[in-house]
Amino acid sequence: MATMRVAQVPGAKREFEIVERPIPQPAPGTVRIKVAACGICHSDSLVKEGLWPGLQYPRVPGHEVVGVIDAVGAGVTRWTAGQRAGVGWHGGYCGQCDSCRRGDLFACETHQVTGISFDGGYGEYMIAPASAVARFPDELPPLEAAPLMCAGVTTFNALRNSGARPGEVVAVLGLGGLGHLGVQYAAKMGFRTVAIARGKDKEPLARQLGATTYIDSQAQDPAAELLKLGGANVIIATVTAGEAMSAVQGGLAVKGTLMVIGAPESMQVSPFILISGQRSVKGWYSGTSIDSQDTLAFSARANVRSMNETFPLERVNQAYDRMMSGKARFRVVLTTGQ
Ligand SMILES: [Zn+2]
Ligand SMILES: [Zn+2]
Repeated sequence: MATMRVAQVPGAKREFEIVERPIPQPAPGTVRIKVAACGICHSDSLVKEGLWPGLQYPRVPGHEVVGVIDAVGAGVTRWTAGQRAGVGWHGGYCGQCDSCRRGDLFACETHQVTGISFDGGYGEYMIAPASAVARFPDELPPLEAAPLMCAGVTTFNALRNSGARPGEVVAVLGLGGLGHLGVQYAAKMGFRTVAIARGKDKEPLARQLGATTYIDSQAQDPAAELLKLGGANVIIATVTAGEAMSAVQGGLAVKGTLMVIGAPESMQVSPFILISGQRSVKGWYSGTSIDSQDTLAFSARANVRSMNETFPLERVNQAYDRMMSGKARFRVVLTTGQ
């Protein structure tokens, strides 16, 4: 029987182990993907550290998957073997629950998450529901583009649904894995793009990515600096520190929106700021497979790229530690060599 290598988490708080498994057959409604690369996202720590209630081990994480479909299950009519494809966090939808019937596919009550509800992309092959698959343009190099399946779609989709119009002031708070993509998308979408990060040393990169204004939040008051520009119509908050998010809300323009996509445990919001300018604080869920597909197509056309450090699958433990250290510039990607 043909086998494949996968990196599995045998149990909560255990090291990854590389194991051989039979290559699975795609069940009805699913496709099999021969994986080229898979990004390591901070959310994979939910599997590694045992933070997802009810998770079944062993589990293969990974929801920034890029590869080629090599077999399709019964009933799959829109995908064929040989097509390049990606799979993200959203692990498909049922089409029958109340959320799906309202068109809110992202909120499908089956809550399927790639690499959590079923095995993900840290391996040579994976099985994905057809509803979780995005078409992957030929122009995008898979190793570079894998993080677009989570970090990319999250920032792209939050921006395009933020209500900001071309020429308006959009600030991206944080210049890490999410933020370095957010700045590129905001600039390419035609917003007056402001990057906010800690320290002077990130300014050249921020400008290279397309920011026209840089605010060093260690040396300057970011809210006051945003007000000098007339206030931000939208602030995309990618950081994981609640105080940093709270510190920018005073820089929102009238009717401005603070879009939260980073996930600190809590943050403080000033009711006075919300009320006095009809401002809002809003969260955004990354998106479904068609949102990923739009992200990839836009990235190919607008030349948006993720900056990555790559590791072969066998070095998964080092790669994961590198991601967790917060020192990677900017995303970490596993490669299978196929
Ligand atoms: Zn992710
Ligand atoms: Zn559903």
